[in-house]
Amino acid sequence: MSKSKPNASVANVEKQWWHSGVQFQCQGSGKCCTSHGEYGFVFLTLEDRRRFAKFFKIPTGTFTKKYCQKTNGAYHLIEKKGQPDCLFLKGKSCSVYEARPTQCRTWPFWPEVMSPKTWKKEISSFCPGVGKGKIWTQNEIEMQIRLQEKMESDILSEARRN
Ligand code: SF4
Repeated sequence: MSKSKPNASVANVEKQWWHSGVQFQCQGSGKCCTSHGEYGFVFLTLEDRRRFAKFFKIPTGTFTKKYCQKTNGAYHLIEKKGQPDCLFLKGKSCSVYEARPTQCRTWPFWPEVMSPKTWKKEISSFCPGVGKGKIWTQNEIEMQIRLQEKMESDILSEARRN
């Protein structure tokens, strides 16, 4: 997840480049489940960890111990050196799709990538879902952005407490 890109928050902006909709449909390539420089960590809110725990039928604390690491107080899935793939990526598929974290649900409509330049140069270059299938309306996109903003704010709040 980016820490330094300009934030394209929907707040205070009347018309964004996505106002007439954006075509995107996941092609199951698994490319967004692999680190791309700064889009690296799969961060997990408490709600994400609880959803995973339910999926694995284990206590949340056990899930956290087994699958998570903490960086600057923020929980994320374990990262292994020299292994850019998410630990739940099996072949090209997410093995925990039903329980996938918020940031995987809101991708690619993250505030930090919603500048026209980043979207065109970076996201379109590795995400084969861009320009395919469903046309997301402005409202749908902004709901995803808000969901991601809330998730990022929850991660930060928890990190401050840790
Ligand atoms: S949890 Fe699933 S969707 Fe999210 S990065 Fe890992 S493999 Fe991809």
